[in-house]
Amino acid sequence: MCKASNIEAARRAAGVLLLALSAIGAPAVPASAADCPGNPAALGTSRTLVVDPNEHPRIGTMQYEETLPLQDHEVVLTFDDGPLPPHSAKVLDLLAAQCVKATFFIIGRMARSFPEGVRRVRDAGHSIGTHTQNHPLSMNRMPIERARQEIDDGIAATEAALGPAGGLSPFFRIPGLSRAEAVEDYLASKGIQTWSADFPADDWRHIPPARVYELAMKRLEAKGKGILLLHDIQGRTVQALPKILQDLKTRGFRIVHVVAATPDRPKTPTEPQEWQLHPVSETIAITRWPKIPAFVFAGTPTLPGPALPDLDWRAGRPAVPASELRPRRLARGVPLPMPRPSQPLVPAGDTPTMLPVPDKSLFAIQEKTHPAIPQSAVAVALPAGANAAAARAMSFNANASQRMIPGSVPIADRGLKPGPVSAR
Ligand SMILES: [Zn+2]
Repeated sequence: MCKASNIEAARRAAGVLLLALSAIGAPAVPASAADCPGNPAALGTSRTLVVDPNEHPRIGTMQYEETLPLQDHEVVLTFDDGPLPPHSAKVLDLLAAQCVKATFFIIGRMARSFPEGVRRVRDAGHSIGTHTQNHPLSMNRMPIERARQEIDDGIAATEAALGPAGGLSPFFRIPGLSRAEAVEDYLASKGIQTWSADFPADDWRHIPPARVYELAMKRLEAKGKGILLLHDIQGRTVQALPKILQDLKTRGFRIVHVVAATPDRPKTPTEPQEWQLHPVSETIAITRWPKIPAFVFAGTPTLPGPALPDLDWRAGRPAVPASELRPRRLARGVPLPMPRPSQPLVPAGDTPTMLPVPDKSLFAIQEKTHPAIPQSAVAVALPAGANAAAARAMSFNANASQRMIPGSVPIADRGLKPGPVSAR
């Protein structure tokens, strides 16, 4: 009896000690590990960001000025085009094992075919946006009535899959990122936020999973933070994801889960410049004058004013001959014009008045796009290097407007039937 009660007391004491230890240790333990039972080494989700789509209707620096107000090394994971078994389910398993929350952009036809897949995304605590009904890659060209129909049908199909419990966020991603002002305006009028991304990992292309991982990490490292665009319907993404998640953890990146503000859930307070990937104040030196150190003046409270000889102005040639300076000006103590440093004389023959017009091929646009600027407008007499740089910039901009980004495989080409799906 006595022995039993001793054991009981010891157990209770140990329990108290454990509680005390866990209480002491709690602040030091990362939220991710604490929130991820069974996986203390999990990547986890470091915070939830609540956004108001009405205030920031377009996000993602691949196409827009603004992006999510993330801190350095914060990442938002997004998955498009699902749900599609078995890949979408595997993506959900991998995220669950790491206690990572993401945002899924659902296609209406997929939701109709696999409604339980949509509910599973919701029940796992992820955010759900939509991605049209049929994934047309021509929203930038189709009549706005048709685009509206695609948007509305996709929302209706996803809501139908979610059922009365709901769970749809006012988030939308345009298929292929084929943006159009009218489409974005329509979405904004419905209080829906248009999500582009900050970088893709090209997982809709026929590239090996190792390349998907490489691109994701390389582009993330280059930007330091941002929205990563992935596809949960791709086998290569399923294969690349474990290493991406593991590397995010190793390299000190943190996952942010984005949800929309509601009357019960106020938006996360942010400053306007936080919605820029790289705020201007951080990069433009002129906006940041160095702080004047707090000097402590010991001794003499005043210093003697400079005398003219101290300026040593006679060392150079005065721009205005001394004889022309008005004596009264000198008498008033008005500073004399400073002598200019003498310019080295360049023989006129060495300065070309015109440079050869660069070859037309420099301005060739690789893809079938319209140049943003007429070629004639840039064929000016600049140094050859500058023209080449301008041509590169032009070609980039022109391509950006028409690049096909994610899910560039038309939906008709995808396996929509339940069961195993061919990877190609
Ligand atoms: Zn897509």
